[in-house]
Amino acid sequence: MRVPITRLRNIGIMAHIDAGKTTVTEQVLHKTGRIRVVGLVHEGTAHTDHLPEEQRRGITIQSAATSCAWTLDGQEYTVNLIDTPGHVDFTIEVERALRVLDGAVAVLCAVAGVEAQTETVWRQADRHGVARVALINKMDRPGADPVAVMGQMRERLGCDPVPVQAWLGAGDRFTGVLELLGGRVLEWPEGVLTEREPTPEERELLDARREALVERLAELDEPLMESWLQGHDSVGDSEVWSALRRLTVAGRIVPVAFASALKGAGVEPLLDLVARALPSPLDAGSIEGVDGQVRAPSEDEPLSGLVFKVVVDRYAGALAWTRVYSGTLRVGDRVTLSDDGRRVKVRGLMKMDAGAREPVAEAGPGEIVAVTGLGRVVSSETLHDPEAPIALAAIERPEPVVWLGVSPESDPERFADAMGRILTEDPSLAHRVDEETGQTLLGGVGELHLEVTLGRLRDEFEVDVLAGAPQVAYRVTAGREVEHNLRFKRQNGGPGAFADVTLRVTPGRPGQGVRFVSEVTGQVLPREFQAAVAAGVEDGAERGILGEPIEDVDVALVGGAFHENDSSDRDFRSCAAKALVEAVEASAPRRLEPMMRLEVVTTEESLGLVIGDLSKRRGRVLGMEHRDRAVVVVNARVPLAELFGYAGTLRGLSGGRGSYTAERSEERRVGKECRSRW
Ligand code: GDP
Repeated sequence: MRVPITRLRNIGIMAHIDAGKTTVTEQVLHKTGRIRVVGLVHEGTAHTDHLPEEQRRGITIQSAATSCAWTLDGQEYTVNLIDTPGHVDFTIEVERALRVLDGAVAVLCAVAGVEAQTETVWRQADRHGVARVALINKMDRPGADPVAVMGQMRERLGCDPVPVQAWLGAGDRFTGVLELLGGRVLEWPEGVLTEREPTPEERELLDARREALVERLAELDEPLMESWLQGHDSVGDSEVWSALRRLTVAGRIVPVAFASALKGAGVEPLLDLVARALPSPLDAGSIEGVDGQVRAPSEDEPLSGLVFKVVVDRYAGALAWTRVYSGTLRVGDRVTLSDDGRRVKVRGLMKMDAGAREPVAEAGPGEIVAVTGLGRVVSSETLHDPEAPIALAAIERPEPVVWLGVSPESDPERFADAMGRILTEDPSLAHRVDEETGQTLLGGVGELHLEVTLGRLRDEFEVDVLAGAPQVAYRVTAGREVEHNLRFKRQNGGPGAFADVTLRVTPGRPGQGVRFVSEVTGQVLPREFQAAVAAGVEDGAERGILGEPIEDVDVALVGGAFHENDSSDRDFRSCAAKALVEAVEASAPRRLEPMMRLEVVTTEESLGLVIGDLSKRRGRVLGMEHRDRAVVVVNARVPLAELFGYAGTLRGLSGGRGSYTAERSEERRVGKECRSRW
């Protein structure tokens, strides 16, 4: 059934790994009737983890969009749930999901609180203006401390958490929650929701907390403040909910609920909160194209939609997961794809429920569907009405930092086909051919990312792949300022070639990339040849030294010469490419090494071993923090190259109790001088 746009919720669940995102998702699907038996993550049967590789690893890798229905106050809502991975190697998945979501549920562990990845995804959500509610999960665990968690949210996430419930007990005494608006006591004996009236003691707690909640919201919301001033006791629940909704949608507060997903407790009120507080596509507002066109979330506007994920299916071909922003997408429609302007006919539309698909005839503003029949399509393309072009901003892609030599064990054709498909599906993968060895290299954003990709090639595409050891993608930069001249000349009868370029190369700031300026006049070198030099500098930087691209340099064109008849753009472009590489080679070039920011959670007993090991890995410890009950969090910066196989080592050192997360650090370590043979 299609619900009105105001009762549509496109949400993601975001969390640090292990906070309970998969368990919460399972419970949501269970409580909304999408699945009858709840899968257990550690048994590898979780519903949204439908890829074999994910099941083996017990982590959620690929986001799966699932629609479910929820009824609140007699009205049906559709909640489109996009499950997003918690591991840093899959941040592009989170990034893609955030682009098409209107709201999110941040799941935090009541014991561990705000963790490294919580902060990362929180910042990503800030960047995309995604409104959030928080769920403090694992309330049943010994040491659960929701007050401390909310303190960390304020301090480390810089948000304003507002509890909409009072929790009844914590740790093994956690029994349920008291709803501050509505005044119901909710409990889950055997995982089944029961409601009762509060006891006199609970009533007292309720009155005090409700009063505090209303006062707090009134400070931030003018309409509520007005009612509140007219009489504290007469402010009705619906008025408070309206204020809470306005403030949440505007990102000014984060409503907080409490749960023990493992015990099936706390999920129904979370769904109520999603329906009440998180934005609908209408609240999310209009969307703007890169050229300034605006589309409102209305059926009367021309069609626009963003393909945010492509999955290549053995039977149905490419399924383009699309969020419709405006207009209506119908089976049989002709639509235009923004990248190459191709017009294609929509063969089919499907709603997705993790494993199962349900064909639909059309999808309106705010809806998420999988489209078939588009042929070759890449994620982050815009679909639009052929008469009303619009291109939405592309989804940011992380650059690959780890490379692996791969080759087919037996069937080269099947291997090539599988590689083609997996590269289409996952835009954070890259491939290139090693110039020296002719070997195919597969690039990814981390070791785990590549491991998972190899696993998918094996399990889903049924190809056996031989893989080498992972290698880090280094970059090079200039060691000192150098001026370098290169002249290209071929004048042996027939059409000649001539170009002369002088470049000055200077070391730049970390992260700036390659910056080019021309310091010559049009008399020295006509504008079009200067433009060709700029393009050539880009080519040269990409080509780099021994396959390692050039980065963080300032390049100036300081001199040149051309020949009336024999010079062409092409000559200048290739001359400049080679001139750049030679200039950097002559500058005592340095290697830039990718660094990771690491958060290791380990036991006090193993701390010495863990730190000793980090320093062996050329790591620098930045700080340590004692958490409850002999748990220590170590922050460090470590070169990516030293982190291969770290998960296993840490398990060994900590007796299986340690865990870590890693995040790309902006900083790169400048290494020793490197040489090439060019
Ligand atoms: P994810 O990595 O965020 O998807 O987390 P999972 O859902 O896989 O949960 C991680 C672990 O925590 C699993 O072993 C779960 O059984 C456990 N877990 C999840 N929710 C709860 C909870 O509410 N209480 C307790 N005690 N454990 C939980």
